[in-house]
Amino acid sequence: MPGVQDRVALVTGAAQGIGAAIAQRLAADGAKVGVLDLQQEAAQAVVDEITSAGGSAIALGADVSQREQVQAAVDTLAGEFGGLQILVNNAGVLRDNLLFKMGDDDWDTVMNVHLKGAFLCSNIAQKHMVDAKYGRIVSMSSTSARGNRGQANYSTAKAGLQGLTKTLAIELGPFGVTANAIAPGFIETAMTKATAERVGTTIEQMREGAAKALPVRRGGLPEDIANAARFFAGEEAGYVTGQVLYVDGGSGLH
Ligand code: NAP
Repeated sequence: MPGVQDRVALVTGAAQGIGAAIAQRLAADGAKVGVLDLQQEAAQAVVDEITSAGGSAIALGADVSQREQVQAAVDTLAGEFGGLQILVNNAGVLRDNLLFKMGDDDWDTVMNVHLKGAFLCSNIAQKHMVDAKYGRIVSMSSTSARGNRGQANYSTAKAGLQGLTKTLAIELGPFGVTANAIAPGFIETAMTKATAERVGTTIEQMREGAAKALPVRRGGLPEDIANAARFFAGEEAGYVTGQVLYVDGGSGLH
């Protein structure tokens, strides 16, 4: 079975932004996709786009940090399409603040969504993958994993996802399951628009700044990340595991 054709995929945080682009790309390439987000109605809009383009998808409402909700969503998806072979841990939130102003809630919320969410989804999805002796797990890290002012919580979570990815690769590799991470740089989404507002600039100015500073001379789009996710999710990427791919226009180069 080449690529992602007829594979069942779960993409979390997929009602908008990077997750929506990944869900659409996997569906366009023949996967049957569970579009999961906090609000099922928001996910349904992406499902409608996928189905009107001829793809297969269902909308799932769940908070990735709640085991029962993730279990119910995976059960629904596997019941609808039969199994689960591709998981994209993409759901994310920001609670940025300088360390001296960061509260316990800011810390806990970010850890719960990014880290506990990826743990729970991987923990529940792996059963289907191990049973089938085939699986692909892709988790969304960030260039912030290298450290970023105002993001002690987020940087820690995104670095943690790299450790989780490598450990999943070691433990699940013998069962035909690969695990890889993508570390996006500046990608234009609702999340970066919120960051722009917080630091007193606009998304347009951020885009211009990225275009001036980056070797590729442009800001990133959700489709740039979807291309990388599609590679890791494909059958042909079976010898690639435990890797972190920086998709950042070259921001880490000096
Ligand atoms: P986004 O536009 O804010 O989308 C994230 C989605 O996740 C939203 O629909 C959000 O729902 C959902 N979500 C939040 N908490 C959730 C939960 N507990 N359970 C289920 N879904 C939840 O963000 P994005 O920019 O596309 O980012 C996607 C991923 O890439 C995130 O992990 C982010 O950290 C990472 N990333 C983004 C960038 C960038 O430049 N955009 C760079 C590096 C890494 P609500 O809107 O209802 O909260």
